[in-house]
Amino acid sequence: MNQPVQIAWHRRAPTRQPSAGAQELAGLLESDWQRGAAVGDVLRRILSTNDPDEVEVIRAAAERTLIDHCGDTVRLRGLIEFSNRCVLDCHYCGIRRGNRAVKRYTLTLDDVVACARWCAEKGYGSLVLQSGERRDAAFVRRVEAMIRAIKDATRSAAQPEGLGITLCVGEQAPDTYERWFSAGAHRYLLRIESSSPELFARLHPESQRYATRVACLKTLRQIGYQVGTGVMIGLPGQTVDDLVGDLLFFRDMDVDMLGMGPYIPHAQAVLPGAPPIMPADERLRLGLRMIAAARLLLRDINIAATTALQALADDGREQGLRFGANVIMPQVTPVRVRTMYTLYDGKPCLDDSAEQCAVCLEHRIASVGRRTLKNQWGDSARFGHRTAGE
Ligand code: SAM
Repeated sequence: MNQPVQIAWHRRAPTRQPSAGAQELAGLLESDWQRGAAVGDVLRRILSTNDPDEVEVIRAAAERTLIDHCGDTVRLRGLIEFSNRCVLDCHYCGIRRGNRAVKRYTLTLDDVVACARWCAEKGYGSLVLQSGERRDAAFVRRVEAMIRAIKDATRSAAQPEGLGITLCVGEQAPDTYERWFSAGAHRYLLRIESSSPELFARLHPESQRYATRVACLKTLRQIGYQVGTGVMIGLPGQTVDDLVGDLLFFRDMDVDMLGMGPYIPHAQAVLPGAPPIMPADERLRLGLRMIAAARLLLRDINIAATTALQALADDGREQGLRFGANVIMPQVTPVRVRTMYTLYDGKPCLDDSAEQCAVCLEHRIASVGRRTLKNQWGDSARFGHRTAGE
């Protein structure tokens, strides 16, 4: 386990006594509630409170847990959105197949390798290859070639194994997952989107099955990937109990990583907000409390402060770090195609170059008293503990 590190704003003297509820909650969070029968009640309380003192107790406890179990470093994964071609029609998504208004693109292998080299030179340590979903043979070959080329191009004295590669390219056949793992990818992010089968069914066309996604997550684990999942928060019709169910799903699947963020409507999606969704500031606050709840429940996993947080508040990702996240995925997709990968309206960082994003991010991370991990994969501590049999 890493040594606890003091963070500057921990030391701020409280100006007044916290509310009685906050004091009682602080005691509860210091107990072994994760193992008790009332775990669902505690999670519900974390997600439901709007009392500022209680929220601060939750935030501070989540941050302490992060520092104790994962250290104080923020792990960077350069995000390459290499294609917006998609065969699926997820109701919430701006690049779904049915959106004829989107101009489609696929980056060349050279483009992708150039982005990867840039990440390696910056010391990012890892990258994420994300795209719309395809399962044809040409796509499978292209991703495999990208993985091999990135590994070849990024081996160096600083990173002898080359950049760590996380894939986020959806549901695939087991042999495809195997092929990509053999080529050198070692993490896979596949969001369940909602662990409620009913809500999942409302978010997707009939042909997309909840059971298939769960089966994919299990296959990825069997193959040896570090497995990440996640959900959207503040979806139309989603309840606090659904979110509690999501957190227990993450626990039961024993995930290594989480990428969760607020749901943000897209004008050309078929799920813009009916039934009405909660206001943006509430979705942001709920998103932050979900990060804190996941950190408190699962402790040693990697959790991303996602771009969707920043879409709702300029400092959304920094807030995510303060609530227990330890991964950030800076944009490295070439600017010329970025607007074509608009999953939701108001996506940030569409015009900033990768260089500008890097500088901006250093400041943002330092502003919350954290530092970036350089030239390392920054794997999930949970994965290390599980494979060591702990
Ligand atoms: N197709 C792959 C998959 O499903 O894993 C990867 C790409 S997909 C576009 C990446 C993620 O974007 C999805 O898992 C989803 O949670 C998120 N996303 C799509 N539309 C969104 C929206 N309107 N608001 C918030 N997140 C959204």
